[in-house]
Amino acid sequence: MPDPLNVLFVSAEAEPLVKVGGLGDVAGSLPRALRSLPLNDAGGRAIDVRLVIPFHSVITHRLPDLQLIGNFQVPHPSGPIPARVFMTTINQMPVYLIEGPPILSGTTVYSTNPIEDGEKYIFFSLASLELATRLDWKPDILHFNDWHTAIAAYELANRRKTSSSYARIKSVLSIHNLPFMGGGAETVVRSFGIPPATDDRLPVWARSFPLPLGLLAADHIIAVSPTYAQEILAPEFGCGLQDFLKTRSDCISGILNGIDEKGWDPSTDTALAGNFSVSELDQRLINKKSLLEEFQLPYSPNIPLLIMIGRIDNQKGMDLAIEGLRMVTDQPWQAILLGTGDPLLESAARSLEVELPDRVRAAIRFDLLLSHRMYAGGDMLLMPSRYEPCGLAQMIAMRYGCVPVARETGGLKDTIRDNREPGGGNGYLFKEASPAAFTVALLRALAMYPNRPAWQAMQIRGMTQDFSWKQSARAYAEIYLNLQEREPC
Ligand code: ADP
Repeated sequence: MPDPLNVLFVSAEAEPLVKVGGLGDVAGSLPRALRSLPLNDAGGRAIDVRLVIPFHSVITHRLPDLQLIGNFQVPHPSGPIPARVFMTTINQMPVYLIEGPPILSGTTVYSTNPIEDGEKYIFFSLASLELATRLDWKPDILHFNDWHTAIAAYELANRRKTSSSYARIKSVLSIHNLPFMGGGAETVVRSFGIPPATDDRLPVWARSFPLPLGLLAADHIIAVSPTYAQEILAPEFGCGLQDFLKTRSDCISGILNGIDEKGWDPSTDTALAGNFSVSELDQRLINKKSLLEEFQLPYSPNIPLLIMIGRIDNQKGMDLAIEGLRMVTDQPWQAILLGTGDPLLESAARSLEVELPDRVRAAIRFDLLLSHRMYAGGDMLLMPSRYEPCGLAQMIAMRYGCVPVARETGGLKDTIRDNREPGGGNGYLFKEASPAAFTVALLRALAMYPNRPAWQAMQIRGMTQDFSWKQSARAYAEIYLNLQEREPC
């Protein structure tokens, strides 16, 4: 029996310990999917993936069998910083939690202060590298995610040159969101003694930014959907790194995220007023009625309930949705918006509620259980994202029979088939990032809604689509195995 392939998955957040957005879903579900891959899907080798996250102060719930397993120091020019490592087991997977002064000082997972976040995540990144050589389990691959852990890929490449402990470890870096590069943390990068890059493929401004440094050094780069992997090579979505990324395009793959199909299953979801499946779709109505009641909105069979769930920021297009909804007030619809983020956009959502009190509700908070009830009770999910590396909300919505109306970009393009497609689709897409283009797609959906058989057929096409990790986990396994067998590019 060949040795297992050991992968340490390094992330800022992971369900069920801590989730702020899609990264939390992915880091909670992909490692588990990889661990349960059949041997013949992974070149005959078991994949022993383990997870490491910061021991954020918001992780206050009791963790089973939590043990302190080690202490070490993270080098810093002004004196080493102490780190403690704890271990717990979640669904049979060992999970490491790293604690240290820069992590303990933060009160939220991400702050708005780039220096505070820089100190926390650069410390965590470097601590994860220390951890990799101090366990009696030796990782073959370190899989980093986003800017928070990217600097470790850069530092790993530096250490491989001089240290035999790191010499055989390969790195993978996933881009979940390219514009978040760790900008503002350059001084922190330098304060940890990490010199700026000298490679002139990287624009000068990016040479001390954590994500670009990671992208320069990682042995393989993954964008979280095939379309996003292409989009980041062009100016519109490349954030100034497109020319540099083109030089690395042989090492970039696009692999679609999956969702945790057990955690997101309307037939067993305990958060719902009523469970349902494709064979008992009418039961779904219980959820819509209960959700409307919760928000004190009236129920009428012919009024579709529109929902929006996500971070409220420029990326997600809350402004486009608000403006678009104002343009179609002559149509029957109700809307519930759930999210937090940009204060200006939050107040725009609240204003819409004040303007249209008989049909709009804005829930400005993070509320996981409410999100489950909304996916189950909403008729349409609005997702007019300006860019969307992958997007999970549309997949969860489809699995719950809630039809997406979304912008044709990134992972939205890869997961949603427009209803005009031959054979019928599972949602509605529009191209231009404008309220007018959004309303054209929304009006098509509103016009279809009263046609119950056609609408249900579309719901069923969404609910039966494979959004599991199976295929994608195989693609990850293939990348890990290839990296082990060849010299990095
Ligand atoms: P992101 O760009 O934030 O990662 P995704 O669509 O990939 O967007 O994933 C967002 C995840 O976070 C989904 O599981 C969504 O349901 C959840 N989510 C976002 N905002 C909220 C909120 N305010 N309350 C509950 N869940 C939320």
